[in-house]
Amino acid sequence: MPSIFTRIIRGEIPCYKVAESETCFAFLDINPLAKGHTLIVPKNEVDYLFDVEDELYIDLMRFAKKVAIALEKAVPCERIGVTVIGLEVPHAHVHLIPINALNDMNFAKPKLTMSAEELEMLAATISANFN
Ligand code: 5GP
Repeated sequence: MPSIFTRIIRGEIPCYKVAESETCFAFLDINPLAKGHTLIVPKNEVDYLFDVEDELYIDLMRFAKKVAIALEKAVPCERIGVTVIGLEVPHAHVHLIPINALNDMNFAKPKLTMSAEELEMLAATISANFN
């Protein structure tokens, strides 16, 4: 069965899309830890990040860097934090999170509630800064 992220990439499940390359896809996390929390996913479904073959792994990291630059322009912050967990969705992904303090990366914190309009606007703003 395809992962939920494969279904998002195929357009079978809606998402707030940020950017895409030939091999990778970026969209807003549905339960954001911070405004602009974005997921970077290889289109080719592999569960564990370190099982992704080298060329795609490098593509993914290059793509993550470009999205992070766009994200920082859209959501001014001290840094874009990067983390990999993968305990919930078995499709390799990198979390990009705008942060100003260490605790902003704490996944045990309550998630933000954002309206569909806010998420849509945010995705469009990040996307407009992506090149
Ligand atoms: P992890 O696998 O890294 O532990 O967490 C998976 C992440 O994917 C979580 O932050 C969760 O909010 C996000 N997520 C899970 N299902 C969906 C979904 O259907 N849409 C979106 N946009 N994000 C999701």
